[in-house]
Amino acid sequence: MKSDSIPGRQFTPEQLSLCACPKCKGSLIHNGLDNTLDCTACRLQYPVKSGIPVLLQDYTGVHQEEHT
Ligand SMILES: [Zn+2]
Repeated sequence: MKSDSIPGRQFTPEQLSLCACPKCKGSLIHNGLDNTLDCTACRLQYPVKSGIPVLLQDYTGVHQEEHT
């Protein structure tokens, strides 16, 4: 796979159309302020690491109660 992506660049609509929220399958928008992908449906935020969106629910900013 050729890696020609530039870190920090804007996601193209085509890239975003390939990404969907793993929780609700909603569409994602790029949040340039936090450098996250935000789900427009359930408001989960997915971090972007080295230009690659991390679409894992475990990595979202949602604070869940810890079971200790
Ligand atoms: Zn969602």
